[in-house]
Amino acid sequence: MAKLVVVTGGVVSSLGKGIAAASLGLLLKARGLRVTIQKLDPYLNIDPGTMSPFQHGEVFVTDDGAETDLDLGHYERFIQSSVTRSHNVTAGQIYDSILSRERRGDYLGRTVQVIPHVTDEIKRRIQSLSLTTEADVHIVEIGGTVGDIESLPFLEAMRQLKLEQRRDVLFVHVTLVPYIRAAGELKTKPTQHSVKELREIGIQADVLLCRSETPLGSDVREKIALFCNVPTEAVIAATDVSSIYEVPGVFHEGGLDALVVNMLGLPEGDGPDLARWEDFVSRVTRPERECEIAVVGKYTHVRDAYKSIIESFVHAGAAHKAHVRLRWVESTDIEQRGAAACLADVDGVLVPGGFGERGIEGKIATAKHARETGIPYFGICLGLQVAVVEFARSIVGWADAHSSEFDSTSEHKVIDLLPDQAGVTEKGGTMRLGSYRCTLREGTLAARTYGKSEVEERHRHRYELNNRFAQQLTSRGLVLSGRCVGRELVEIVELPDHPWFLAVQFHPELKSRPFEPHPLFTGFVGAALERRRARTGDDSLVEAPHSLHERAHG
Ligand code: GLN
Repeated sequence: MAKLVVVTGGVVSSLGKGIAAASLGLLLKARGLRVTIQKLDPYLNIDPGTMSPFQHGEVFVTDDGAETDLDLGHYERFIQSSVTRSHNVTAGQIYDSILSRERRGDYLGRTVQVIPHVTDEIKRRIQSLSLTTEADVHIVEIGGTVGDIESLPFLEAMRQLKLEQRRDVLFVHVTLVPYIRAAGELKTKPTQHSVKELREIGIQADVLLCRSETPLGSDVREKIALFCNVPTEAVIAATDVSSIYEVPGVFHEGGLDALVVNMLGLPEGDGPDLARWEDFVSRVTRPERECEIAVVGKYTHVRDAYKSIIESFVHAGAAHKAHVRLRWVESTDIEQRGAAACLADVDGVLVPGGFGERGIEGKIATAKHARETGIPYFGICLGLQVAVVEFARSIVGWADAHSSEFDSTSEHKVIDLLPDQAGVTEKGGTMRLGSYRCTLREGTLAARTYGKSEVEERHRHRYELNNRFAQQLTSRGLVLSGRCVGRELVEIVELPDHPWFLAVQFHPELKSRPFEPHPLFTGFVGAALERRRARTGDDSLVEAPHSLHERAHG
């Protein structure tokens, strides 16, 4: 059985538990340990696939087609290995499996209860992942904040695990130490209360990761240690940093990995090998050039909705030693103010995935503007669909061309429901999901950019390019450069008479990682940098590097 590290959060939400768990995972992996990370989400949805991006942020899709929490994206990017559907467990899934067993009669004669039935099912899901991944350390992140009614069964299950395997379970609690301006000091009381809250349900935190704006002095750490019943070295400062990728370094300096290894009785070894990671971080924090890319979508004020896209630009930027500045543009603004005004002076345009009609004409106008003015265009999922609609309207001349998602009466539904979606009425988990192989057509921008002839990418959509119109589209110059292996599905389109115009039906952003930036993002950023150089004669930084980054949730 793997050693278990349970990561909980207290005081407020959005403290970056996911990044904290992923950073610890990275450090332990860099020490040569086999690490797996799992997220337990206390909400009752079976998965986040049916939630609005405004509520939940991005839905991260795994190779095996699960729609999961966006923290799983951080896990993959930090631990650098792929997770599966078993890595994200929700209360909805737990209850669903218990209730179907109850209906089958598996509990005949008994009362089905939170303790032990729900807690046993939670423990079973943890233990079965430990076994299949053969991990040395299994990090379990509990969603939500300690004190939420919903998370109680999960915390109770963790308490039981600690009782059963005393020396193999460690509790890491992420808290906030706020700076109160009026008093001019950092306040420890919220942390004390949240640790006390955990104690009331029978859990003693072993390690505290204290988020704060300013560094924690030793007096503050000692005070927290005393009141929270942990050794001072287990109170680790997680001071704000400019990039999330700096967090593992901060934790390592605070002694986190050494402490965890020690407390769990794991071999100490030579410490983590972080050379490659540090090189990546320095490329991120000290860029030499920059470009600006517009992201035209409809969830642009909830950045979590585009988490993996943002990180993919960080990775691709690092590959070019460049900072990619993102301009967030609401597609409805394009409808009101016009593409030329909203996209003035950008070096590239990305239209990401999306659902629903609001703002769709703004996205189509974006594709048109990019096609006509030669701005590099990258379309992802819905971004491919609008590019095809635009091409059909402007170049082929079908004024009514549309996707049947938005206009079922059009004569030219150039984007239509996938055949296998025809009879589907249930919304949850029924899209075309997960990894599919795609063949690239030789000599195309796609094949050149990937540098291979076959790739595997993850999908999440119901609609696709309608093959009925493929011939007319290609005869007017649209190049279909990627096709699904074994099926007549168009996965990539591009325009040859354009500096860089490429759109994909899948979600490449889900596979970009610090050491393996996604080739399409790297290629697109390269084209944007080139445009900037050609346009301004200079792509050096406008702002000082330290002010480039948004505050990271460390
Ligand atoms: N709404 C479109 C579809 O279902 C695009 C989905 C997406 O962009 N992920 O096909």
